[in-house]
Amino acid sequence: MEVKTSLLDNMIGVGDMVLLEPLSEDSFINNLKKRFDHSEIYTYIGSVVVSINPYRPLPIYSPEKVEEYRNRNFYELSPHIFSLSDEAYRSLRDQDKDQCILITGESGAGKTEASKLVMSYVAAVCGKGAEVNQVKEQLLQSNPVLEAFGNAKTVRNDNSSRFVKKMLWQKLTPMTLSLDLLEKSRVVKQPRGERNFHIFYQILSGASEDMLNKLKLERDFSRYNYLSLDSARVNGVDDAVNFRTVRNAMQIVGFMDHETQSILEVVAAVLKLGNIEFKPESRVNGLDESKIKDKNELKEICELTGIDQSVLERAFSFRTVEAKQEKVSTTLNVAQAYYARDALAKNLYSRLFSWLVTRINESIKVIFLYKVMGVLDIYGFEIFEDNSFEQFIINYCNEKLQQIFIELTLKEEQEEYIREDIEWTHIEYFNNAIICDLIENNQTGILAMLDEECLRPGTVTDDTFLEKLNQVCATHQHFESRMSKCSRFLNDTSLPHSCFRIQHYAGKVMYQVEGFVDKNNDLLYRDLSQAMWKANHSLIKALFPEGNPAKINLKRPPTAGSQFKASVATLMKNLQTKNPNYIRCIKPNDKKAAHIFNEALVCHQVRYLGLLENVRVRRAGYAFRQPYELCLERYKMLCKQTWPHWRGPARAGVEVLFNELEIPKEEYSFGRSKIFIRNPRTLFKLEDLRKQR
Ligand code: ADP
Ligand code: MG
Repeated sequence: MEVKTSLLDNMIGVGDMVLLEPLSEDSFINNLKKRFDHSEIYTYIGSVVVSINPYRPLPIYSPEKVEEYRNRNFYELSPHIFSLSDEAYRSLRDQDKDQCILITGESGAGKTEASKLVMSYVAAVCGKGAEVNQVKEQLLQSNPVLEAFGNAKTVRNDNSSRFVKKMLWQKLTPMTLSLDLLEKSRVVKQPRGERNFHIFYQILSGASEDMLNKLKLERDFSRYNYLSLDSARVNGVDDAVNFRTVRNAMQIVGFMDHETQSILEVVAAVLKLGNIEFKPESRVNGLDESKIKDKNELKEICELTGIDQSVLERAFSFRTVEAKQEKVSTTLNVAQAYYARDALAKNLYSRLFSWLVTRINESIKVIFLYKVMGVLDIYGFEIFEDNSFEQFIINYCNEKLQQIFIELTLKEEQEEYIREDIEWTHIEYFNNAIICDLIENNQTGILAMLDEECLRPGTVTDDTFLEKLNQVCATHQHFESRMSKCSRFLNDTSLPHSCFRIQHYAGKVMYQVEGFVDKNNDLLYRDLSQAMWKANHSLIKALFPEGNPAKINLKRPPTAGSQFKASVATLMKNLQTKNPNYIRCIKPNDKKAAHIFNEALVCHQVRYLGLLENVRVRRAGYAFRQPYELCLERYKMLCKQTWPHWRGPARAGVEVLFNELEIPKEEYSFGRSKIFIRNPRTLFKLEDLRKQR
């Protein structure tokens, strides 16, 4: 009898690291390199897929490939992301198990591409019929739209996602997309060498003269303060062509022409807001006041969006505070006026983005799968030269995902052996729970401290926040700063006084404390939301429901940090209830170049992703396990004594079955409730025997 073990035959290097001999960091990296050099970018660690970004198109995603992987066993073919997609899809369909696909790795490692590949695979194999096909097309076309509005060029990735994307296929409800946590500060300011969201450049490059006129825009990027100029053009990216793709996609997804027009008007208004400038006005009553320098831009924005010019102008100079049910107007100084302007731009844009998602979900309204399958694509771990609140938040999110990986893979696996009373050796691994705690602990966490500062009356600055951190976190093993009294880092000149450093699971990151308080506060003065709500523009009005004077809520809106923390917590809770499938993405070089495999860089990622520990745990353990009842039910046909009915405990039945089939004793162990099978090959053998019957 021939058993298919293509995993071992005709394979470049070793397809599953679990089978690598001998196992060491060197052999692990060498195997990855060898495979990468032969365009084999996928390698398994058991059921985890390790993916290395090839930085060039590979001919391995064709419809023929989809057919090849469809309904095949995980280990039958060479490692591929389609294999994992198929496995997840089939468990969902046949076993009614909720699935999620977790894609992790640093920025530029290929997460978003991977999420799109999974999505297109599932779209290709699930459901049939004209209606379903239309939905699939809409679903796939939602990508260019979301990327135009939510992606930007960063130092690490020319098309970096600046939001968390979750796609869900579920039972009796339409496929939904949910997006969260857009990095909205990018709208008003971008780090050096980076761009604003793609859509701004796309409009300016790709819109017809007529459209630009209607939007009161000029083609020249340099006209706009919100667009950084040092990297306005991206190599190999044609913004004009992409604009056409996006418009076309919007049509397919189901946006009406007038909706698209409204959306573009909001985008234009945001861009033009950046050009409103303020100057100090002579002091009246000893108060600082500011005045708009040149009202032309303001006038055009209002013409474009139906906002009342005098109302908006007033909202840029005054702020109404309610104290004991009395309204008090205070003037804004120049700095406050700029703050108000930027807050408005950020809010307009980020709310537009959320609205787009809701709108896309509405138009994708067909049932085509039973249970829930989620694909999660987040922004990757980031270490820049200057790291601010955004990186802090992004890295926190990654820290949590790593935690989930540990919980579900390393810890869970070891705990199961203990539960099932299976003999095995304990594997040491780094548990990053302690870092998560440093950030999110309700009393002493950095986010809690930041909130406390933001809500405290009196003068609050980034420095007072840092002082507070220094008091509370000084002794934490993963926190470093020079200011704290008992600091171990007093002589560390690489750590400026205005910074703190966190030793993340993926490396040390130094955060510049400047801006933390403002960004966390994220205040939009009520006068501005009211001005928006009054606009004669149905989209803008809908984006600011709290501007309705009838609905005034005196409670302070939650801070950016606490909103983020809550979203992350919901996400994690949600993931924990699902069967996880992992794709671990690795970036082969820092040059965004094909064919270059930088061993040191890969090694660093392999280390912090804990991939070697992952292999060790898998090896020390067993590749497959199944409750006795299920195992017996599936394979009882292979043995006269168990077929058609086995009378007796299921465990004894499995014992008889395995003896009869002459499966080597060292290949399996009996747990309390499950049979544990060491090698996937044993399972193939069983499956093949079944097929032959
Ligand atoms: P991330 O989401 O992890 O930041 P992306 O998925 O955006 O990274 O990938 C960055 C770039 O790398 C993509 O724009 C694409 O050019 C390239 N890339 C990533 N994965 C693949 C792949 N499987 N095949 C070809 N190119 C890829
Ligand atoms: Mg991405």
